[in-house]
Amino acid sequence: MGAPNSTSPAELLRRLIRFDTTNPPGDEGPCLEYLRGLFTDAGGADCRVLESPGGRPNLVVRVPGRGEAPPLLLQGHVDVVTTAGQRWSHPPFGGDLLKGWVWGRGALDMKGGVAMMASALLDRLHRGDPPAGDVVLCCLADEEAGGVHGAQFLVERHAELFAGIRHGLGEGGATTQHLHGRAFYPIMVAEKRACRLRVTLRGPGGHASRSHRGGTMARLGELLGALDRQRLPVHLTPVASGYVRGIAAASPEPERSRLLALLDPARTDAVLDRMGDEAGRFDPILHHTINATIVRAGEKVNVIPSLATVDLDGRMLPGFEPEEFIAEVRAIIGPEPEVEVIGSGPRLKEAEQGPLYDLLCAVLRELEPAAVPVPLLMTGATDQRHFARLGIEGYGYLPLRLPPGFGQETVHAADERVPAAALDFGTDALSRVLSRYRG
Ligand SMILES: [Zn+2]
Repeated sequence: MGAPNSTSPAELLRRLIRFDTTNPPGDEGPCLEYLRGLFTDAGGADCRVLESPGGRPNLVVRVPGRGEAPPLLLQGHVDVVTTAGQRWSHPPFGGDLLKGWVWGRGALDMKGGVAMMASALLDRLHRGDPPAGDVVLCCLADEEAGGVHGAQFLVERHAELFAGIRHGLGEGGATTQHLHGRAFYPIMVAEKRACRLRVTLRGPGGHASRSHRGGTMARLGELLGALDRQRLPVHLTPVASGYVRGIAAASPEPERSRLLALLDPARTDAVLDRMGDEAGRFDPILHHTINATIVRAGEKVNVIPSLATVDLDGRMLPGFEPEEFIAEVRAIIGPEPEVEVIGSGPRLKEAEQGPLYDLLCAVLRELEPAAVPVPLLMTGATDQRHFARLGIEGYGYLPLRLPPGFGQETVHAADERVPAAALDFGTDALSRVLSRYRG
């Protein structure tokens, strides 16, 4: 990053943080205009701002390559989540640089990633060193509210921009996870798929001055308790098994044997129960999950409600359909309640662990010889699910080398921050991938 015009990712991130893009409302325009200005000044790239019908802009930059590889997608969002009610040690939109750390909302999620991608590309433009193939950089609005005005809008209304693209890199992976003394780098190759359910309970209503037993409220309580007590069945998917095996292989005994026991479905849940906090990273990739989030019942304090509904946020493992998921939920809540699907994410294909995956791993090992890359199943959803509709295989790969004891805890929380050196690491990694990507 030593070229005279080089754009330090940390300095770029500091500028990006100072645009308050809290979504809602997002207000991504000024931030994206700033990024567009950098690319316009550098010259050599085609920049377009595409506005959704709701008036939300998205910046698409196409950097021409040498024609030696298919085009590659880099995608990241510039909107951020709220800071309301949080106690920050430094102003969330100040972009302070203190003792080598950049502070502010979006430092990790994910203006830091946008700064690394933009920085890697700007550096090439300044040096007149085109990447192997065209690179399409999408700086997106609205990811934190589902991407309707961002990735979903581009995919539905401007699919032509992505013609010929087979692979994309975005958020959700390649950040250091320190475990058992080793530095693991989980590369996201698949996401869980949302399946949101509404459960309806009906029963006799009545005047609340009389005695009632076993009505909708009592059954609602039982249902919530049952969901809380039980896991859904264990399913071993290739990506989750690969993650567990990869971590086990680099871990000492007795951790290794204990991790491998997770892959025996007869023992999985018992092992998780004994694992403590560490179980949190394995439990949701070995089961579908379901959590009650919204309860509605009753309108008047003197009327026993005859109807109660519970909305459930379900997350399915890859390769499953809502009917199979509902059958498992039924085993917990019983046959009686009405169950309807109120929303489900698109069906997603696991990204191949082929030549590109090997390149992503190789670059990490070059930059940190002790790095242990492993495939990751993301439990949440990213904008990748929208690009997947165009057949683009997505990898979560925005490498950040983080020190032990600092993980993703500050994402969506107070005191979000990132080491400037981690941004240099990631920019270097992306730059190497751009040079060597061949499809
Ligand atoms: Zn994000």
